[in-house]
Amino acid sequence: MKLEYDIVVVGGGPAGLAAACAAKENGAGSVLILERDKEPGGILNQCIHNGFGLHYFKEELTGPEYAARFIHKANLMGVVLKLDTMVLLIEGKTVYAVNAAEGLLEVHAKAVVLAMGCRERTRGAIGIPGDRPAGIFTAGTAQRYINVEGWMVGRRVVILGSGDIGLIMARRMTLEGAKVLACVELCPYSNGLNRNIVQCLNDYNIPLYLSHTITGIVGKQRVEKVLISEVGPDRKPIPGTEISLDCDTVLLSVGLIPENELTRAAGIPMDSRTNGSVVYENMETEMPGVFSCGNVVHVHDLVDFVTAESQRAGKAAAEYVKAGGEEMPGRVLNLKNGPRVNYTVPQKIRPGKVEKSVDVFFRVNNVYHGGTVRVTDGENVLCSFKRDHLAPGEMEKITIPAGLLNKALGDGLTVELAVKEE
Ligand SMILES: Cc1cc2nc3c(=O)[nH]c(=O)nc-3n(C[C@H](O)[C@H](O)[C@H](O)COP(=O)(O)OP(=O)(O)OC[C@H]3O[C@@H](n4cnc5c(N)ncnc54)[C@H](O)[C@@H]3O)c2cc1C
Repeated sequence: MKLEYDIVVVGGGPAGLAAACAAKENGAGSVLILERDKEPGGILNQCIHNGFGLHYFKEELTGPEYAARFIHKANLMGVVLKLDTMVLLIEGKTVYAVNAAEGLLEVHAKAVVLAMGCRERTRGAIGIPGDRPAGIFTAGTAQRYINVEGWMVGRRVVILGSGDIGLIMARRMTLEGAKVLACVELCPYSNGLNRNIVQCLNDYNIPLYLSHTITGIVGKQRVEKVLISEVGPDRKPIPGTEISLDCDTVLLSVGLIPENELTRAAGIPMDSRTNGSVVYENMETEMPGVFSCGNVVHVHDLVDFVTAESQRAGKAAAEYVKAGGEEMPGRVLNLKNGPRVNYTVPQKIRPGKVEKSVDVFFRVNNVYHGGTVRVTDGENVLCSFKRDHLAPGEMEKITIPAGLLNKALGDGLTVELAVKEE
């Protein structure tokens, strides 16, 4: 079946929903969301804890409540939503998808927004040694079993990884009556939000083993115990530090991978630092008329930032369609990460397209108790921002005024963090 839409959005999670609504608000005629799941909302549908929407709605919502507001808005605005529909291929601005009711769909669009989110790293990705019994889950899979399917995954639990998903699952398992023996973290600091360490571990007396990792899993049918060891500064286990924990379940919260198979196959340039596509200030990729937003671009800590970024993508897609797909030529500034900064999004800024200011997101490479974030053009510091605390688990944002972008010499900007002591 051949279809035509102004804008096609791939993925109906918070990013896709916000982009679709913003496209409509900014004058797009027809907007279609293609979502492979049975319902829209993405990962938020299984996040039944609160803590969503504090920035955007100034309210504390659960994940499904946050998603419901955008689903409702999308319906009111006439966004067409095809569920149970898997996108298979993107060729320029033609999107191929399949569903059981209609078969193969060939959708021709004037602009495309990619919002496929990310997936979890598994045991295979990090190579934990030991037996291969039942009882080992990624934290997100366990979350879906418990919160959506109604299955309890285990009773005595060890969690590897202290990112937000691991921390939230430590509390969730405890509330469901399980005993969480430990949360084990390879780094000397947690990769989760500080509020989650307090509310999910400290409030339930769950020990956090920093600079530790799982060095063995033992069990024939089901997990019987795990071995954890301290690691040195090289992140290698230190012999003689092994602790044995009797448990029946291991939850892995060891990182997220942006779902960019479609993006790569479409030939869109990628950034190896984020595992997402390279994007301009308005979330346009280097393929004109194809935009990208949300976790598929870089892993976000808060959905509120996903929403804001995706609204920018949706608005820009609508403007691209209104302009008839014309590209505005002009100067491009390449953003580089300097000392202590791991990546920046966007990676490219066209000063001519920035009205008032541009938001730049980044993460630092370690925990720092204070420092100054500087934006330089190689010769001059264009602007600087003081921060009391920075950590890899918390996404940072700086706002660069348009006027300063025009003053930059050369074709590059560097975002760096200066600290007094490390
Ligand atoms: C366990 C957990 C706890 C969290 N806790 C918080 C919190 O307390 N507060 C907070 O603000 N944020 C939290 N977050 C983060 C927040 O949920 C994410 O930032 C947000 O969901 C990302 O939105 P997204 O739309 O980019 O991705 P997703 O929500 O993953 O949505 C992507 C969508 O794309 C669809 N899709 C992918 N590929 C295809 C395809 N080929 N065809 C069709 N559809 C496709 C997927 O099915 C999915 O519905 C949490 C996340 C997790 C996992």
